[in-house]
Amino acid sequence: MSAAFRERVVDLDAVAGNVARLRELVGTPHVMAVVKADAYGHGAVECARAALAGGADWLGVAEIAEGLALREAGITAPVLAWLHDPDEDFAAAAAAGLDLGLSSRSQLEAAAAAGDGSAPVFVQLKVETGLSRNGLAEEDWDAAFARARELETQGAIVVRGIFSHLSNASPEDDRAAIAFFERALASAAAAGLTPELRHIAASAAALSLPEARYDLVRLGIAVYGLSPFGGSAAELGLRPAMTVRGRVAAVRRVPAGKGVSYDYTYRTSGETTLALVPLGYAEGIPRHASNRAPVSIGGRTFRVSGRVAMDQFVVDVGDLDVQVGDEVVLFGDPATGVPSADDWAEAAGTINYEIVTRLGGRLTRTFLGGER
Ligand SMILES: *Cc1c(COP(=O)(O)O)cnc(C)c1O
Repeated sequence: MSAAFRERVVDLDAVAGNVARLRELVGTPHVMAVVKADAYGHGAVECARAALAGGADWLGVAEIAEGLALREAGITAPVLAWLHDPDEDFAAAAAAGLDLGLSSRSQLEAAAAAGDGSAPVFVQLKVETGLSRNGLAEEDWDAAFARARELETQGAIVVRGIFSHLSNASPEDDRAAIAFFERALASAAAAGLTPELRHIAASAAALSLPEARYDLVRLGIAVYGLSPFGGSAAELGLRPAMTVRGRVAAVRRVPAGKGVSYDYTYRTSGETTLALVPLGYAEGIPRHASNRAPVSIGGRTFRVSGRVAMDQFVVDVGDLDVQVGDEVVLFGDPATGVPSADDWAEAAGTINYEIVTRLGGRLTRTFLGGER
């Protein structure tokens, strides 16, 4: 398949295969594929289906709207949403059968009031164990768990889960958070709660800290074939699902000393060929990667030459015979000889998560594999 002008190609068989591989590695009774933020830029609905085909039995999103979009696409698998607008109306989520991740007593009351009376609202209580983001604070645990149990007895809610999230600051910090989580579980049990799902691990802890696995792991980045630790995902048996590529839009032969792109931060060192690549920061290509990030053209790897602009950047390809219309790969599966999202992350001073998730603008998206 020849490249489109500017596109990301997402291999859904890689997504499914990664989930199957991760399931085998973690061995938990349940696996949640996190498809928030449009599946980290990979396409939420398509990736959700592929992840379910690969053996995930839960889907995770940040916002309720993201969960509703999965339902609208006909996805009936369990979905947990955990980050809410302060004025969120939970009724639509309850009607759609989304599980609500709740981080405060006011959210608990709102969730209990959101059902239509015919069935309980499924909730999962989030507890703060060190990350300093959301989650019930320790001083609220006793009261919140007692109230949750009361609402459960009344039939308004079912507390399906209790969960938290780790900092990945160090194994010691994560173990301290797990000990903290154990205290929350004990407090919940003392209040009479019997959550079916206890979970705290995202990709990093799921892969590196077996005691963090509990009943379910919430896997995001690893599902897309990238390592939560940066570096080689192949060592984990994972395959990057996304390729970002385009077509050379112009080629020119220039003499030595030619300034390239805004501010002339790059000058040619000899007579050479410049290829124009039609992807820019409007597509989420980081300007910080100017003069640094690798790109693959004609089976060889070059560097972005000069500034990344809004719509385009230039690559000095030396004497390579490059033609207008040739394929340029920014990143993909490094096993195929192209740069990786991690290479781009390093060039831009960020993490692979940001490189794939920030993409957009005029990039089209094409899917390979899967059953769509
Ligand atoms: C984003 C997110 C995840 C997934 O994290 P990865 O590191 O991508 O696996 C899991 N849990 C929560 C609460 C999240 O916000």
